Amino acid sequence: MQKRAILIGHTAEKPGAVRTRDGKTERQILESFREYLNFQIKPSGNTVIIDKPHGQGTDISGIFARIAEAKRQNVEFAIELHINNVPPGKTDNYSLLLYSESAAPIAEALKEHFADFIKDAGVERWVMVKIPDPNWPNFAAITQAPYPAIIFEPFFINNPKHTVAERALFEFCPLLVKFMETYKKQ
Ligand SMILES: [Zn+2]
Repeated sequence: MQKRAILIGHTAEKPGAVRTRDGKTERQILESFREYLNFQIKPSGNTVIIDKPHGQGTDISGIFARIAEAKRQNVEFAIELHINNVPPGKTDNYSLLLYSESAAPIAEALKEHFADFIKDAGVERWVMVKIPDPNWPNFAAITQAPYPAIIFEPFFINNPKHTVAERALFEFCPLLVKFMETYKKQ
């Protein structure tokens, strides 16, 4: 059976956004996600977690290393997790789904699956972007994935309306695992 993968974003060298209230990095928060996800996935199931905690050279937050590993494991599709940053002075409030062309149906299903959760977390809207897109050059890498590839940024790291808290992790992680276990190809 072909596996489905959850990719953990960022590396120790490129830890991503910083939460101002406690200085925690995106990478550290994503490591908490990884721990919770590890509790939820069944060893006998169809979901694997891919993490490349160290990057090389100009690899943007280790994304090419993760794509290579997912390719090596011949995954059916992969969802990479990130936590968005709020630009200073902005109050943007959305959940972001970036996806390669072949991943469009999976992205739509993921949005549907998380609709209630995201609303409850205080997020106002979804932004869906098919990659490549000139406004999102940093994520062009996912077009090189030989499988349907998605980047999911459910929250903003500094948005006080969002609960990127330990409570949210408890709820977010089992929902994501459920999606990985139950999504049916159209
Ligand atoms: Zn990130």
